[in-house]
Amino acid sequence: MAKFSIFSSDTTRRIAEADSVAVIGLGRFGSSLALELMAGGTEVLGIDLDEELVQALNGELTQVVRADSTKEEVLRQLAVDEFDRVVVAIGDDISASILTCSVLLGMKTPVIWAKAVDDRHGLILEQLGVHHVIYPEKDMGRRLAHLVRGNALDYIEVDKGYALVKASAPAVLLGRRLGDTGLRSAYGVTVAAFKKPAGEWRNADQDTVLDEGDTILVVGPTSSAEGFAQLR
Ligand code: ATP
Repeated sequence: MAKFSIFSSDTTRRIAEADSVAVIGLGRFGSSLALELMAGGTEVLGIDLDEELVQALNGELTQVVRADSTKEEVLRQLAVDEFDRVVVAIGDDISASILTCSVLLGMKTPVIWAKAVDDRHGLILEQLGVHHVIYPEKDMGRRLAHLVRGNALDYIEVDKGYALVKASAPAVLLGRRLGDTGLRSAYGVTVAAFKKPAGEWRNADQDTVLDEGDTILVVGPTSSAEGFAQLR
């Protein structure tokens, strides 16, 4: 993929036309998001006030520009108004985050994701009309609490009260067809997928037979899925 280091509005306009995302704020969160998007083949325009951060990411993103995102004329000059998806990853400077989101909303950006550092910040962003407000620190803390408390290998709360848990297959499931284990009625969960120690992930069905050492993905109400993941 072509990488550009010198700013030109033609370049940002071209990026906007591709499968692209503008990431504003390149701190730890914004830069790791931007790099992950690049790794997945999405073109990224990164914007930050901090010259050092911009230099550090130069050549790593499709384009990186030092600019103040609270200024509408600056965002227009960078063709940010032509991006369908913009992430505002500014946290600590709440006023800069709010002003940036307000400018983007005024420019009718179709999808805005914005990071909130706390509930108050998040509420203001939601009231402004930001489409997706994310709470990375709060969400990570909650997720970690579930991992630390139990035997889950990974945990995602898909929505409030419903979770996906990666765990080792417990003894109650070993050596017989999943369809014969009474899993749903006894535990209120479903095994969605499984992986043998040296194998790939595969969808589980009634005829799947698990062995010791297999890893499973369990879905269900959070308390049931988590409770199930505690079984040995
Ligand atoms: P993280 O937790 O992601 O590392 P951080 O605490 O380092 O974030 P934040 O205050 O959340 O920093 O801001 C993220 C980035 O946003 C910083 O690199 C900062 O320079 C940038 N930023 C802040 N205000 C603006 C602005 N008006 N325009 C462009 N970038 C900005």
